[in-house]
Amino acid sequence: MATIVLDNCAVATMDAAGTEYAGGHVVITDGRITAVGAGAAPAADGAHRVDATGCLATPGLVNTHHHLYQWLTRGYVPDGTLFEWLTELYPVWAHVDADLEHAAASAGLAALALSGCTTAMDHHYVFPHEAGDLLAAEIDAARRIGLRFHPTRGSMDLGQKQGGLPPDSVVEDRDAILAASEDAVARYHDPAFDSMFRVAIAPCSPFSATGDLMRDCADLARRLGVRLHTHLAETQDEDQFCLEQFGARPVDYVESLGWLGPDVWLAHCVHLDDSDIGKLARTGTGVAHCPSSNARLGAGIARVPELLAAGAPVGLGVDGAASNESGRLAAELHQAMLAARARSGPQALSARQALHVATMGGARCLGRDAELGSIEAGKLGDVALWRLDGLGHADIADPVCALVFGPPAPLELLLVGGTPVVERDELRTADERAITGELRTAARTLAERAGR
Ligand SMILES: [Zn+2]
Repeated sequence: MATIVLDNCAVATMDAAGTEYAGGHVVITDGRITAVGAGAAPAADGAHRVDATGCLATPGLVNTHHHLYQWLTRGYVPDGTLFEWLTELYPVWAHVDADLEHAAASAGLAALALSGCTTAMDHHYVFPHEAGDLLAAEIDAARRIGLRFHPTRGSMDLGQKQGGLPPDSVVEDRDAILAASEDAVARYHDPAFDSMFRVAIAPCSPFSATGDLMRDCADLARRLGVRLHTHLAETQDEDQFCLEQFGARPVDYVESLGWLGPDVWLAHCVHLDDSDIGKLARTGTGVAHCPSSNARLGAGIARVPELLAAGAPVGLGVDGAASNESGRLAAELHQAMLAARARSGPQALSARQALHVATMGGARCLGRDAELGSIEAGKLGDVALWRLDGLGHADIADPVCALVFGPPAPLELLLVGGTPVVERDELRTADERAITGELRTAARTLAERAGR
């Protein structure tokens, strides 16, 4: 039996009772948490013991929305709205292939790991012809970095000719999309408790996917027993688009397509009225909150406090790196708290609520709250250990407050199923310098192909 013991650290378990220990321990055996509590850990023969003095243990963070390929196009259209930014980027993204995808996904997943993320998702929706197997490329990258991974088979079938936003060259045929989605689930979806790979089906957005595709995807996902994801209510332009094209606002529109339910989570949901929030909460539909991306594109600030008060599942996301050049999940804890307060006052979102969104909230969005998202005996050994005794945090008495209010904390250790992925801010599973070199080359190749 392989046992790892984190000893003498503060612990924020994020369990239902909000249990915390000022000085405690976490024990992980064969990939699962076997003990958590106050004081020193019980003796365990042959265990690898980590003296975690000065550190805070939290559940590994869960990223609920990303587009990993966008690591190749960071810094493009720095001052555009979502629609302006998309319109300029679609033709660049049309040149992505499997090799470029692998480089981008390795970089994006490395950045997530280095910022405390143990479970990541990806929403890939651009599938150029002859590009190779893009999903296989990103799954290979996730294996390389060692994170739990929820790739989605995204899609677009509403091109400009039919009144959509993307150029016709980057959209696919509906039957081909459905076949490819079913194939992705058959090949890569693992429903096991300790699964490293789960696939969801994810047509891109109301302005790039037809209602027929959205409806067929919902039927397919429910037949296969997998989850559904899309972008929704991100900007006022989208509100306007949905009213003009469908005679309904975004939440009402997707409700009519069978897209509200406990197996659905939606990215952004910035522009919701009270009735929308009630619908999401009543149906258990999740929201992936991406505060930095929403701020970068000037989209607005999601009503997270109201969603939480209503009982809707809310997780945290970095979104694609082309609209959040940082790509660091721990930074979103800080950003989520500040954004909520900028909108609604200092009691809008506490440090603990922000951490809960980033852990259990994300686990709910991905349908994994029985398996991860909190430090409890029986759950998977996905734990982040943050060093809080340095210049950035040492004088803040409350460790959760230090983590969320303070600067990005050094990551002492990141465990996925008990396996170290990061130690002292360095990747243990892959060579960060090699990944950086591959990324630089890939970004240059894509820019050249796109004539930039
Ligand atoms: Zn997105």
